Parts: sequence; C-alpha cells; structure tokens
Amino acid sequence: MGKKPREAAALRSKAEAQLADAPTRKTSARSAEDLLHELRVHQIELEMQNDELRQAQIALEESRDRYVDLYEFAPVGYVTLDHAGMIAEVNLTAAALLGVDRKKLIKHRFAGFVAADSHDHWYRHFSLTRQGQSLQSCELVLKRNGDSHFHAQLDCVNSQNCDNSSVRIILTDISARKQIEDELRIAAITFQSSEGIVVTDADGIILRVNGAFTKLTGYSEAEAVGKTPALLSSGRHDKLFYQRMWTSMRQEHYWQGEMWNKRKNGKIYAEWLAISAVLAPDGSITHYVGSFSDITKDGEAEAEIHRLAYYDPLTQLPNRRLLIDRLGQALAASRRNGHYGALLFLDLDNFKTLNDTRGHDVGDLLLIEIAHRLNVSVREGDTVGRLGGDEFVVMLEDLSEDAQMAALQAGIVGMKVRDAIAMPYMLKGLEFTGTASIGVSLFCNQGDSVDDLLKHADLAMYHAKESGRNSLRFFDPEMQAVLDERSAMESDLRHALVRKQLSLHYQIQIDATHSLIGAEALLRWEHPERGQVSPAQFIPLAEDTGLILPIGLWVLQTACAQIKAWSGNPATRGLQLAINVSARQFRQSNFVEQVQQTLAASSIDPQYLKIELTESLVLDNVSDTVIKMNTLKEMGVSLSMDDFGTGYSSLSYLKLLPLDQLKIDQSFVRNVASDANDAAIVKAIITMGRTFGLHVIAEGVESSEQHEFLDQHGCHGYQGYLFGKPMPIDQFNEWVRQRA
Ligand code: C2E
Ligand code: MG
Ligand code: MG
Repeated sequence: MGKKPREAAALRSKAEAQLADAPTRKTSARSAEDLLHELRVHQIELEMQNDELRQAQIALEESRDRYVDLYEFAPVGYVTLDHAGMIAEVNLTAAALLGVDRKKLIKHRFAGFVAADSHDHWYRHFSLTRQGQSLQSCELVLKRNGDSHFHAQLDCVNSQNCDNSSVRIILTDISARKQIEDELRIAAITFQSSEGIVVTDADGIILRVNGAFTKLTGYSEAEAVGKTPALLSSGRHDKLFYQRMWTSMRQEHYWQGEMWNKRKNGKIYAEWLAISAVLAPDGSITHYVGSFSDITKDGEAEAEIHRLAYYDPLTQLPNRRLLIDRLGQALAASRRNGHYGALLFLDLDNFKTLNDTRGHDVGDLLLIEIAHRLNVSVREGDTVGRLGGDEFVVMLEDLSEDAQMAALQAGIVGMKVRDAIAMPYMLKGLEFTGTASIGVSLFCNQGDSVDDLLKHADLAMYHAKESGRNSLRFFDPEMQAVLDERSAMESDLRHALVRKQLSLHYQIQIDATHSLIGAEALLRWEHPERGQVSPAQFIPLAEDTGLILPIGLWVLQTACAQIKAWSGNPATRGLQLAINVSARQFRQSNFVEQVQQTLAASSIDPQYLKIELTESLVLDNVSDTVIKMNTLKEMGVSLSMDDFGTGYSSLSYLKLLPLDQLKIDQSFVRNVASDANDAAIVKAIITMGRTFGLHVIAEGVESSEQHEFLDQHGCHGYQGYLFGKPMPIDQFNEWVRQRA
C-alpha cells in the first residue's frame, strides 16, 4: 500500500509540469487533461486506501487488545526471566499466583518465590533449561505472598534472541491436583488395610473390594463386583435388623454394629461392620463404603461365657435357666400358631442307689450316657435339658393342632425315650440297667405359665413313679386315656398275627376295555371287641412299633400264596396282585432277599407280583431305594407308585426310578369331574405317565363321570367302588367266576 501514495505524488508533479508547458505545445494540452483525470482517479483511490488503512489499524488495535487480554488473563501464568534468573516480564495471572503486584515482581529474582525445600530443584532445572532448547517441566512448591505455599508446575523453555537469552516459563497451579493425588494415595494405602473394605454404588452394587475382603470372605474381587452384599448373607438376621440398619443409614448416613455373615465356604462368622454413605455436594448418596473386621474370635469368647451360663457342664445339655427361657418362647409360639407342645419330665429310678454303691464318678457317666440317648431319641428342633441331679426335661414343639393327636405324638416320643433309657449300660466295665419315670404335660393356649407347666409335668412324673416306675403318665387324665388306648391297641396288635385276626381283602383292577387285569391286596384287622379296624388306624401304629415287619412279611407270603392258587385257574391265571409296602419294611436291609425267598418258596412267576411304594418312601433315601427297586425289577417284579401326586412328584426322580405304574391318588380322582385344578393334575399325570411309558391307573373311582373323564384323557387302568369294593378272597374268586 505504501507504493500507491508515492505513485500519486509522481503523477501529480508530472501533470503540473506538463500544464506549465501548455501554451507552447498545443498537442500537450490534451495529455495534461488526461493526466489531471488520472490524478483525480488516483486521488479517489488514495482516499479509499486511507479508509482501509484506518480500518486495518483499528482492527489491529482491537486484536492487539484481545491478545493482550489473552496473555494477561490466561489460565496459566507466563513469566519471562533474564539470563540471570531475574523476572523480566509476567502476566497478571502469574502475579496473582505469586500474590504480588506485577510492578513489584519485575527485576526480582524468581528464586525468591521458590520455597526453601524446592530451591535445589529449581536451580538444577533453571540451568538445565538454559543449556538446551527443549521444553523442561518440573513441579515445585512456590511461595504465595511470601508466606503461604502452593504446588506449581513449571514448563520452561530457553529463548535465544540475537544478543541476550531469556527463559520463558508457563506457571500452573497444581495444588488441587496434588491434593487429589495425595488423597488417592492415602485411600490406596487405606484400601490395603487389614480390615475388609467394600465400596458399593448408591444401589448397593459392589464396585470395589480390597484384598482383606477376599481374605475374610473367600470371594475374589471378580466374584464380588456386580453383586450386592447380600452375597454374604447368613440368614441369621431378620428383616427388622436390616430395616433398622437402613433407617440409620438414611438418617445419619452411618451405621455400625455386629453382623453375622457367611463365607464362600459356607462358614458363618461374626464381623464388626461400619458403613458410611458418600454424599455428593447436593447431599445425595453416591456410594457406600463398608469396612469390617472378623470378630468371630471375640464371638467365640462370648459363646464360651454363654455356654457356661446356660449349659450343664457335665452333660452339655441346656440347664434350668435356658430351659425356662426356651419354654417361655415355646409357649408363646404355640399360642400363636395353635400347635401343641409337650413337656416331658424325667426322673431316673434308683439313681441314688447307683451313686451310693458305685460312686459319683460312675453316676456321672450314667448321666452323660442318658443325655446322649435322650438327644438321639428326639427330633432336631426338640430341646433336651438337665434340671439338675437325675432330673431331665424334654420339650417337644410343633405337635398336632389336635389335642388327642398331640397326646399320641408326645406319648410315642415318651415311650421311645423310656425304652432308650431302659437299655443296659456299660459303666466302667460293669453292666447296669436303669429306668426312668416320665411325666408329660401338654401345652397350647390354656394360659399356663412356665412354672405351671413344670409343676404339672413334675406331678405327672410322681404319678408315674407311684404306678410302678419305668412308666409314663400324662398330667391330664383325658390325655392319659388316649395313651392307654393306644397302648392297649399296640398290645392287641402284637397278638393279632398269632391269633389270626389279620386277613387280606382284594380289590379288582380293570383296564380301559373293562377286562380284569389284577387286584390290590388290602390288609384287614378283625378285632374281637372293636370289630374291623381300618389299616389307616393300625398301619401307623405297626410302623412305630416295628410290628409292620412281621405283618408285612405275612402280607407278602399270603399274596404270593394267592398268586400261586390263582395260577391253577384259567380265569385268574394272568392276574397281577399288588401289595402295599411301607417305608420301614422297605428299609430293611434284607427286604429284597425276603421277596426273592418268598417268590421262590411259592414258586410263582414274579411278573404277577406288584409292589406299591409311596413317594415319601422313595424320597427318604433315593439312592438306597433306586438300588433296591432295580434289583426287584431285574427279578421280574412290577413296581407301582401309589398315591401319586400327593408327594413331591418331580420329573427328575420319575426318570431315575424303574417304575412300571403310576397310581393317581384318589383325592384327585374324587373331584376330577367338578374341580378344574384336580382335572388339570389328573390330565398332567396321565400325560407324564404316557411320556415315560408308564401304565397309569386311577384309584378310588366311584362314579361313571369320573370314569368317563379318565377314559377320555387316556387313563389305562381303574380301581374303585364303581367296579368293586375290597372283598375277602372267597367273594373275590366268586366274583371272577361269575364274570368269566
Ligand atoms: P392305598 O394303598 O392307597 O389303598 C387304597 C385305599 O382306598 C384302600 O383303603 C381302599 O379300600 C380304598 N378305596 C378303594 N376304592 C375306593 C373308592 O372307590 N372310594 C374310596 N373312598 N376308597 C376306596 P384301605 O383298605 O382302608 O387302606 C388304606 C391304606 O392302608 C392303603 O392305601 C395303604 O396305604 C394302607 N395299607 C393297606 N393294606 C396294607 C398293607 O398290607 N401293608 C401296608 N404297608 N399298608 C397297607
Ligand atoms: Mg395301595
Ligand atoms: Mg393309594
């Protein structure tokens, strides 16, 4: 642009010279005018250029101001030092960082602002920068306003001008970053502590755990992350416990207390746990941090104290104190749930004599052995305790809701306990027989106190002693009557076999085409006074007393003899006879041999014998059952699952068992035509049976509607009053003869 004004000035002087010549040279007048015109044009251009120039100048000034602002107020400080380390120039940010007025900084030694501890570092760094061209960074502590300190990062570069060199520094305050780094370092160290630490998000999802967590719980970080702390739940705390904990977390953002948790290996342990909520600036919870230590050892000490206070040191049984406590709880529970409980009060007969004649140490051995026998005679949830001396207590809970049934249950346990105690003892090489007198008191919601109960049971025990020792008496005469009745029935049942009071009745079984396929043998007891007693009444008694073993064998032998008898008659030759086998009978180690021997002795084809088992029997000990069933099956005997659908019918065991038949329980058959649920169950059982290739038979078929429904859905066989009631053998044979 500088060229243009010069050009215009040259043109102007050229034009003026030509105009001065004009009168003398005519021709040149024209060119002068041209020149003037050109001049005007140039003048206009010149003005325009001046305008541009002004605007450019304004823009330049503005942008310079902007750059000045950028420089002065940059987020980092700029400092220029001369070769001697004196401050030559600083921006406002740097002045603010150093906390000194800019003017006062100039010509001051920069080292004066470096904290004493960082001096050496600074000098090393400064000389390094001056030697090279590259950017050098370092972190130092600088002084602010001469007293306080701050962490700074210095990025320095050597700037070489023609005759002097300077060092330009970019100064960044890194105090905040340093603080975070420090905190992280502290946190990392804390995280390595011997306390287990777990960090969760606000929803309780585990984000991090430390090494001690893994050591204490057995769960690795990978196994824990993404889960909730419920991973460790021991199930020992109730809902209320967790509710209280969360209330405290919500209100105080903190909770601490003892907690029982479960390790990966299933072991329960006690920990002291402290949980803190991590809050965001707006007060919302972002994380939870829990730290815990294993206090099981302390717990063990506590347990020891507890044991000493509540347990009898000789027998390790609960002492009177704990018993009274538990009795109170049992009373309250039974009032709530309506189930009876029973208190059995035992006193050894002639214990004093043993103590006096054989010494206290032998007496102690007897007490320890009795404690053991009592423990194995009761269920897991029942409590056995020692009140002192030769007095023991057994507390039974969750008996029947029916008083008579509960009395029976308590009576059975009482007799079991009495018999267990009456077995001979070997004490220091000598045999000893001891017995106990037992008093029983039932409790439910009669409003009795713990004291009342103990008194009643104690009183009943005295009556037992009076009635001749080794006996059991109820406090309530009505309950005593129930027990007496059962005892009478038991003694009658013992004689039933010998007195030939038992017989088998036969109920026909038909197939879908109404052809006779077989029968079920059902036991009958013809009691001289009571008349016919139902198997539902005496089979459980026979099971409890073990009488089922000789009775069951008799059923097996009678049934096989019947099959043999049928084989001689063309009308009955192909009939299959089913017998019921109860759990205790099946559990005998020689059950399979019994069947084999009976089959051989009666020389019958095993395919005509069918054994009915129940689901509860099978599930009681699946592996033993499967082995026995397979052997029976290999022998050619058929196997049927009786009362199917009432137990825990599951596909997995159906697949496992070598069954031939499913027998739909009569409770489903009863309402099959009217109840949609029962209908659905029956249909499902038929489908299931068909799927597994099993014969499906329905029992308890009483009406043609039931029969029709079953027939429509593909049931294979039927048994029930609709076709025939269970009948004595002569009647049965006659029935078959008439049909043939
Ligand atoms: P279970 O094996 O399920 O026998 C079927 C029961 O239903 C029999 O009762 C039978 O008389 C009855 N019943 C048959 N058809 C009908 C019907 O149309 N309607 C109704 N309402 N009932 C019908 P029972 O004879 O009283 O036998 C009861 C239970 O006693 C048997 O149930 C079986 O579990 C057991 N039991 C019978 N005999 C023996 C045996 O010799 N040994 C063993 N261990 N248990 C047996
Ligand atoms: Mg049966
Ligand atoms: Mg049945």
